Amino acid sequence: MQNRQNQPRITPARLSTRIILPRKLLEKIIAHSRSALPNEACGLFAGHINEADKRVEEVYCLKNIDESPEHFSMSGEEQFAAIADMRKRGLTLLGNFHSHPSTPARPSEEDIRLAFDSSLSYIIVSLADAEPALKSFNINKNENSAAEETVEYTS
Ligand SMILES: [Zn+2]
Repeated sequence: MQNRQNQPRITPARLSTRIILPRKLLEKIIAHSRSALPNEACGLFAGHINEADKRVEEVYCLKNIDESPEHFSMSGEEQFAAIADMRKRGLTLLGNFHSHPSTPARPSEEDIRLAFDSSLSYIIVSLADAEPALKSFNINKNENSAAEETVEYTS
């Protein structure tokens, strides 16, 4: 038997959470991410929660005020306007997204450190390869862990 003490703790995936994302909104996220190159892009997404399903109905493309290829900060004014629009339309904030222009779709240490709300989903789009890759994560900054969520695309 090997000593298991030193092995990293595997965080169980939050298998229950499923992001349901219309392809049209996937395209909107990718287009915004490409338009921000070489910098990171960012935004919010909203919709409805039904038990474990998060159905995305709107994507808000926001300005990265850091204008950096390695960091992002959302424009506060634009966040405020997006939240107001969600309220008006009866949508729930489901999470945020940002792009990684040249690294994989995996949360960085900073992404985990800055993830303040473990009820939100954190989508990362990687443009490192010719084909963009999108992944969604549940991040628990206190546990320093991220679990990938299922993403299902609808037409
Ligand atoms: Zn990141």
